[in-house]
Amino acid sequence: TNVIEIVNLKKTYSSSHGMHSALKDVSLTVPEGCIYGIIGLSGAGKSTLVRCINGIESKTGGSVKVLGQEVGDLGANGLKSLRRNIGMVFQQFNLMPSRTVIQNVLLPLRGTSVPRGERKVKAERLLELVGLERYADAYPSQLSGGQQQRVAIARALANDPQILLCDEATSALDPDTTKTILDLLVKLNREYGLTVIVVTHQMDVVKTICTDVSVIDQGRIVEQGSVYKIFADP
Ligand code: ADP
Ligand code: ADP
Repeated sequence: TNVIEIVNLKKTYSSSHGMHSALKDVSLTVPEGCIYGIIGLSGAGKSTLVRCINGIESKTGGSVKVLGQEVGDLGANGLKSLRRNIGMVFQQFNLMPSRTVIQNVLLPLRGTSVPRGERKVKAERLLELVGLERYADAYPSQLSGGQQQRVAIARALANDPQILLCDEATSALDPDTTKTILDLLVKLNREYGLTVIVVTHQMDVVKTICTDVSVIDQGRIVEQGSVYKIFADP
């Protein structure tokens, strides 16, 4: 099955400067269990695409189905459950600086059906999964960038999402740290069957871990298919 099916997606922004087509005709399918790369230069439309997938932005045309549901048809509760099913990881980690590491991981569990007594155990297990159980009571500022990103990944997994959506998640990290994050993403994919989507401008990242890729340029998909096929050496 496919976790995401996007057909002829269009997104036009209108502002005082006029209209701007950020996504012109984007179609892509993300099969369950893959590591899918969406690659393009700055301004290509990647963030707009991400925001159409998690329902932050409304589309101008076409269809965006996530986990079988048309995102545009969802009401407030549907959007809430959609967002719990898509764990988000960002370039700048976006941790709450005034909260400890474990408090950050606990945040997404607020207002969920996970019983209070189980939340801490769950957060501890997630910190163990990313190798940071020793830092539960530290503050984000006491951690390295790579460690902070691992906390962000633990937090993104708090609601057992089916999709982990990484938006330039390694762009602020040095090459060695990037490798530890990519290894973690591969582990989550292999051992837990998590579908991972990697949105990036970094070709190496896609070549290293992705199974499938869409190349986006100026709001259009210009190449699409298996990474093996598209990046095969001639
Ligand atoms: P990327 O994430 O690949 O850098 P974006 O999706 O951020 O690309 O942007 C695609 C295009 O849409 C860019 O030309 C950008 O300036 C424009 N754009 C993005 N967000 C808005 C917005 N809220 N209003 C108007 N134009 C926008
Ligand atoms: P990124 O490429 O990482 O998404 P941007 O700097 O393109 O970051 O965008 C930051 C914010 O500004 C986003 O919320 C985006 O919607 C908005 N934005 C981007 N381009 C434009 C634009 N041309 N006009 C208005 N808002 C924009």
